[in-house]
Amino acid sequence: MGVGMYVPGQRGEGVDVGPTGTGGQDIDLKNPTVLVVEDEETIVEFLTMGLTYEGFTVTSVRNGKDALAAFQRVHPHLVLLDIMLPGVDGITLCRTIRGRSDVPIIMLTARGELEDKVKGLDSGADDYLPKPFKFAELMARIRAVLRRHRIITGSKLQAGDLVLDHDTREVTDGGRPLTLTPREFDLLECFMRHPRQVLTREAILDRVWGYDQMIETNVVDVYVRYVRNKLADGRRQRLQSVRGVGYVFQP
Ligand code: CA
Repeated sequence: MGVGMYVPGQRGEGVDVGPTGTGGQDIDLKNPTVLVVEDEETIVEFLTMGLTYEGFTVTSVRNGKDALAAFQRVHPHLVLLDIMLPGVDGITLCRTIRGRSDVPIIMLTARGELEDKVKGLDSGADDYLPKPFKFAELMARIRAVLRRHRIITGSKLQAGDLVLDHDTREVTDGGRPLTLTPREFDLLECFMRHPRQVLTREAILDRVWGYDQMIETNVVDVYVRYVRNKLADGRRQRLQSVRGVGYVFQP
């Protein structure tokens, strides 16, 4: 597999490894990613099992320092954050994440920590769930928070006039059907699943092309241009460049 400049036609859609050939990639795009920040092993196991069963892709870390690194790496759709953590505490971590992203955050508060007091600290969390909790209770909160953030965990994603159906692989823009190649479709889906989040070229490559693909990051620029042309946005560009970083989808 050659490393080097992207040459159109050389790695075209016909010869490229499609979604069926890349195994986990498709699951990663379809299933929302949740970052669990919790130092109690039994709770991590409990959450990982339950959330995986519910169709989430779970990444878990045990402390605040690892949490920030994992946050940058996986671009989660949801963060479950314990308050009492070794090193950086949950409140501080929540404020830091909130400074970078509007990702939904649910804080897990230990028994004995007054919920009102924690809320009064105004960390920017979307919701607070006192421990111990039933898994069903957590799922109800998660669904409510995701709904508020307009994250749809089913097959259809909607951002303004743009509707993408993961299962039928159809995209319409203001009712007008768009004809996208499989790769363009995956790229647009990746953006629509992370609205208003700046995605680096590397993160996009990992998600859309697969982490083991030896491809130069400029392939991302080429495909963003293809999708932009098909969206025909004119002056209000939905796929915006973030200079020196990557791209952001503004619905
Ligand atoms: Ca703890």
